[in-house]
Amino acid sequence: MELCQWIIDEYRNKDKNEQKENDAKMDKIQMTTPLVEMDGDEMTRILWQYIKDELIYPFVDLKSEYYDLGLKHRDETDDQVTKDASEATKKYKVAVKCATITPNAARVEEYGLKEMWKSPNGTIRAILDGTVFRTPIVVKGIEPVVRNWKKPITIARHAYGDVYRNVEMRIDKPGTVKLVYNSTDGTKSQTILVHKFEGPGVVQGQHNLDDSIESFARSCFEYALSEKKDLWFSTKDTISKIYDHHFKDVFADLYENEYKEKFEAAGIEYFYTLIDDAVARIMKAEGGFIWATKNYDGDVMSDMISSAFGSLAMMTSVLVSPHGYYEYEAAHGTVQRHYYKYLAGEETSTNSVATIFAWTGALRKRGELDGNSDLVTFAGQLEKATIDTIESGIMTGDLVRITSLENPKKVNSLEFIQAIRAELEKARQ
Ligand code: NAP
Ligand code: MG
Repeated sequence: MELCQWIIDEYRNKDKNEQKENDAKMDKIQMTTPLVEMDGDEMTRILWQYIKDELIYPFVDLKSEYYDLGLKHRDETDDQVTKDASEATKKYKVAVKCATITPNAARVEEYGLKEMWKSPNGTIRAILDGTVFRTPIVVKGIEPVVRNWKKPITIARHAYGDVYRNVEMRIDKPGTVKLVYNSTDGTKSQTILVHKFEGPGVVQGQHNLDDSIESFARSCFEYALSEKKDLWFSTKDTISKIYDHHFKDVFADLYENEYKEKFEAAGIEYFYTLIDDAVARIMKAEGGFIWATKNYDGDVMSDMISSAFGSLAMMTSVLVSPHGYYEYEAAHGTVQRHYYKYLAGEETSTNSVATIFAWTGALRKRGELDGNSDLVTFAGQLEKATIDTIESGIMTGDLVRITSLENPKKVNSLEFIQAIRAELEKARQ
């Protein structure tokens, strides 16, 4: 008899527990398609877990396909995991990535690596064939040094060729340098004089490829549409009448043939101007647009834009492929110095904002692709909760140093995320 009662009670409890689990699940936002989740290294790996535990799991029934891109696991899998994660991104279209170590000689020793594995971002970019867009997160109290910048300026840098794939020569005595082209089929050959040197000097050869320029242009047009922001593009075509002019033409042709109507329907503009004119206009603009740049211009200008907006820890980054794949991450690295403090048991105050925005970017895109408005709304609420937390004066040490708010409260890495959770819970009540 007692045994019978025990069995009945057990069943009831089991039912109750299942009911509770279901209730909890019902309250959470459901996902239909998984996100590709790429975990990473050091301090950002610690933040990654805090973010999931405090800001994602309590609200979203997270569907993700998890890939551990931590250096140890990359080494164990001979870096296969990076390739698998990239292939998964092709399949599902949206990924979120934690910062990862790019090994150098010191890291090979520190982790006892089999090889000095390549940069994961380089591998992912090569497989997805994309362009990286970097956008600062603008909050009140962290003022851009350029007073009139009110909205973020997104910078897109072409990632192939020009001076990064150049050949160079030192000329040490008088002589002639020529550029020679011979077509493989033997039907065309062309020679032009670069310079007749009367004394010592230097010379350089650069190239780019139509495929690469076109895929860059396509990524820019796609991203502008997906963000509903104007797109600016700049080169030095008045001086470089063939090379830079070709970039201008590729963009113009693609725009006329494929994107003009879509841009008009979205109420956004494509605007081409000379690089020096773009620089001058940007200093006087309000922001809120995307600036596409050639490789070198983007290298230089992205550092100017990010430091002028305040902090690398407030800069997000998304790799957009011309085939419609999106990979979101923070623009900063693994914050090694903070991690060693963390390992030593010391308190850290590491800024998780860019990593949180990598998550919201990916969740929003997933929601848009799946027609999941709850997920899109949640992404917006989490971003707002993050910004509201900082604007209320609660922030990490890096922002305390530069804020114009009076009496900011410096909190540790976890407290900052918990403060955001409190804001988020208020917003979702
Ligand atoms: P980093 O991780 O970006 O950090 C450089 C410094 O910037 C930090 O020491 C810190 O300054 C400050 N900082 C950066 N992010 C911060 C944050 N979220 N909160 C507070 N402060 C922040 O660059 P790194 O130290 O040169 O590189 C470390 C590792 O990251 C390297 O192994 C590199 O390969 C890797 N990395 C990865 C990526 C990526 O995966 N996308 C990008 C860049 C670098 P203080 O020390 O003064 O507080
Ligand atoms: Mg640079």
